Amino acid sequence: MSTHETLAARVRGPVFAPGDEGYDDERTGFQTNDPHRPSVIVGAEDAGDVRAAVEYAAENRLPVAVQNTGHGLPLAAEGGLLISTRRMTGLRITPAAEAGEAGTPAEAGTAWIEAGVRWGQVVPEAAAHGLAPLSGSSPGVGAVSYVLGGGVGLMSRMYGNAADHVRSIDVVTADARPRHVTPDSDPDLFWALLGGRANFGVVTSLEIGLVPVTRLYGGGLYFDAGLIAGVMETWRTWTAALPDEMTSSIALMPVPALPVFPEPLRGRHVAHVRIAYVGDAAEGERLIEPLRAVGPRLIDNVRDMPYTESGTIHNEPPVPMAYHATNFALDDLDAGTVQGLLDLAGPGAPDRAIVEIRQLGGALAQAPAVPNAVGNRDAGYLVGVLSRLGPEIDADAVHALHGRAGDLLDKRSSGRLLNFLFGANATSEQVRASYDAAAYRRLRELKAVHDPSNLFRLNHNIPPAT
Ligand SMILES: Cc1cc2nc3c(=O)[nH]c(=O)nc-3n(C[C@H](O)[C@H](O)[C@H](O)COP(=O)(O)OP(=O)(O)OC[C@H]3O[C@@H](n4cnc5c(N)ncnc54)[C@H](O)[C@@H]3O)c2cc1C
Repeated sequence: MSTHETLAARVRGPVFAPGDEGYDDERTGFQTNDPHRPSVIVGAEDAGDVRAAVEYAAENRLPVAVQNTGHGLPLAAEGGLLISTRRMTGLRITPAAEAGEAGTPAEAGTAWIEAGVRWGQVVPEAAAHGLAPLSGSSPGVGAVSYVLGGGVGLMSRMYGNAADHVRSIDVVTADARPRHVTPDSDPDLFWALLGGRANFGVVTSLEIGLVPVTRLYGGGLYFDAGLIAGVMETWRTWTAALPDEMTSSIALMPVPALPVFPEPLRGRHVAHVRIAYVGDAAEGERLIEPLRAVGPRLIDNVRDMPYTESGTIHNEPPVPMAYHATNFALDDLDAGTVQGLLDLAGPGAPDRAIVEIRQLGGALAQAPAVPNAVGNRDAGYLVGVLSRLGPEIDADAVHALHGRAGDLLDKRSSGRLLNFLFGANATSEQVRASYDAAAYRRLRELKAVHDPSNLFRLNHNIPPAT
């Protein structure tokens, strides 16, 4: 028996080695640039497979990577063991009457979600019970990793980080022990997992709180190139005095002339304002009047909608792609920063990139009922810069543009948000900047307790304290 056959005998799901049929498909996710190249992959069917895979990795001193959808690839594994969770799609919704007392006052039920579940699976199931998860812009993103990384969602100014609504975590730690972690059973590990993400184990399932939201006033306002500067400045000043019920963002986007994009946008440079208002539609409409007053929209689909249509707000294309991304948390957004972003990637700029600014604040800035390690809670805005990569794109120009983004924003930035460090290029400095200094020190100390050999290092790594 080869070593990997030994592993295959210990798990229910498939095991792939390089060259096997299915290996390439299993290791490749949404991010197609520089995927994992593990020496073995376990396609886990259940928590038992995850436990067996971690045990095998520990016995053979193989570092462990985890992947569900591949939206957040932090570092391409070279060798090691990859646990692929995409087959673990168990989901159970429990309305409030059965969910018990624990949880924040805003919650009206819970969802138990396994490691391979995407938001697109949770949203309709929760809606059938009059509930919604604190999901984000894209239904294709994996729910578990999103929550473990913080989770800035469509309603986050109203309800805060998704991580703040976790009730329990099932995880396999580096000693290959399955543990059910609650704030009472192990407050330190509970704290570290929510924010520390893959550093403390492979999470096999989570129990999260759901909120009683069925409808939103939401959608997108798309403005053509000539109105971009005006709408950026209007959005900036407009966000200064909004109720927490309003969560919005703006993206500057060169839209490729491809059928996957709506016809009126193809081949144009546009500003896309995304609106999610949890409240009365008439009040939402009144609130966004200043944005509509900027001028005609190429598309305006802001409307009263069921939460099941919330994926249309950002309308991110579901097609896998290669990309390089950077993010910067800012305390506030001044006119000079907006002008700098227009110079960097506006319609007149020499190079193309997507620039997104999300308004944070509101409930995101509040301390959670149960503490967790999610950092940079005080930030007012998040700026993301994303460039497509590919054979037809000059990689040097992309790196130069991201260098200029750093020149513009590093000095204004208070840190990073871990969830938005994706693109297989996160540096250790960026990981450190995703936490408050004391939290980062504590994470390192807890890493030394729970994973002293850094078995879980093919990730946004937090090295154990020495
Ligand atoms: C198009 C797009 C839209 C996004 N929108 C939002 C948004 O609105 N709000 C937001 O907060 N974030 C958003 N993100 C970021 C996203 O939440 C993170 O990248 C998240 O990590 C993706 O999880 P995944 O399972 O889809 O991806 P994966 O690449 O499969 O996972 C990312 C990493 O998480 C870790 N991980 C995965 N599964 C587990 C597990 N079971 N246990 C422990 N660790 C695990 C691994 O280190 C893995 O490399 C977006 C990303 C993209 C590309």
